Amino acid sequence: MAEGRLTVAEAIRTAAQDLAATSDTARLDAEVLMAHALGVSRSDLLLRWMREPAPDAFAALVARRATHEPVAYITGRAEFYGLDLAVSPAVLIPRGDSETLIDAARTVLADRAPTTILDLGTGSGALLLAALSVWPAAQGLGIDRSAAALEVATGNAMRHAPGADMRRGDWTQPGWADGLGRFDLVLANPPYVEDAAALAPSVRAFEPAGALFAGPDGLDDYRILVPLLPRLLTPGGIAVVEIGHTQAGSVVALGTSAGLSAQVFRDLGGRDRAIVFSGIKV
Ligand code: GLN
Repeated sequence: MAEGRLTVAEAIRTAAQDLAATSDTARLDAEVLMAHALGVSRSDLLLRWMREPAPDAFAALVARRATHEPVAYITGRAEFYGLDLAVSPAVLIPRGDSETLIDAARTVLADRAPTTILDLGTGSGALLLAALSVWPAAQGLGIDRSAAALEVATGNAMRHAPGADMRRGDWTQPGWADGLGRFDLVLANPPYVEDAAALAPSVRAFEPAGALFAGPDGLDDYRILVPLLPRLLTPGGIAVVEIGHTQAGSVVALGTSAGLSAQVFRDLGGRDRAIVFSGIKV
């Protein structure tokens, strides 16, 4: 090894110290970025690469992370419900909390496998593709208003559920749902952040504003979507929407006004995260 050149282990240690100022997960970040720079898995990195010379590309990746850029945008990958997904700054990075929606759907549907699944605001395709990994025989449709997001979703679908359909649609435009049909399972993680909310710099400066913000109280998109659910569900169908942890009361009320019954589910942190709407009669 060249004199003065850091080993992988040493470079990770130094980077973790530097990143501690801006990240709560500094050591993990450094490992993931190093694995990315080497083009190996994290377990391979830890088992086989620690004494090798650090690659030149690593420093630039760490410098990006030090500006609060999310690791997932630097590597272009994120994991959701056991699926490895491509992500870009055109899509929200899938959150572990959103897995609550899939678990809630499984709980409520029990042994009734949905045959049709709609994901509103699919982004990377995470929710739809996770659902299709659970119910592979279902017909899946993902909708997003962002062409750049749809490209990401389509790529992820090709890998995980090639039969899934990803289509452009914007629920702020009149008539957007005409001809969509009805679905046994509707999923949605719409924008729900209050415009003025205090967000981590990694979120506010890097993630797509159009996927996050929904008016002064964060309820703009629910006000559009929830009243439409009765038209989108089959008899016996359910809709599962993600909510901010303080929004359960308001969003349940929107559903009740639309004639739906509602069940609230919590995430692993114990906070309200998903609402399952059901009970439409046709
Ligand atoms: N959970 C995201 C966040 O606050 C918000 C997602 C959304 O608006 N749909 O980071």
